[in-house]
Amino acid sequence: MSKNHEPESQTQTETELRFRVTTEAMRPVNPDAVCFYCEAPVGTFHDNHTCALVNKTIKIRMIVEYDVNVPFNWTEDQILFYRHHSAWCSDNAIDELNQLITDGDCLCPITRFEYVGDVSGPFLEER
Ligand SMILES: [Zn+2]
Repeated sequence: MSKNHEPESQTQTETELRFRVTTEAMRPVNPDAVCFYCEAPVGTFHDNHTCALVNKTIKIRMIVEYDVNVPFNWTEDQILFYRHHSAWCSDNAIDELNQLITDGDCLCPITRFEYVGDVSGPFLEER
């Protein structure tokens, strides 16, 4: 039985990529020799359209609006220069966001996500 998680066959379109079901797709709660998610029997192929084990990588954009303190006389250009081109590291934003959470606020009301696009075609993650 193949442990290779690369598509077993590839044709012109992504929808024709097929991934063979191995015993790794079984789950202890269901002893049947089928994929727990799409119920395709071991040795056949996962259903790319319904199976949660056939994944793809996407890119998302996270937009968060929150308050920070800056010198009173800074202009928009100075603020953006400081954030984008100075020694200030964007990793510091993680600390700022963590402080908001520590202060008891959930990020959900100030956060929005946008789907940027697909990064990969389908791939199999049976574990
Ligand atoms: Zn499946």
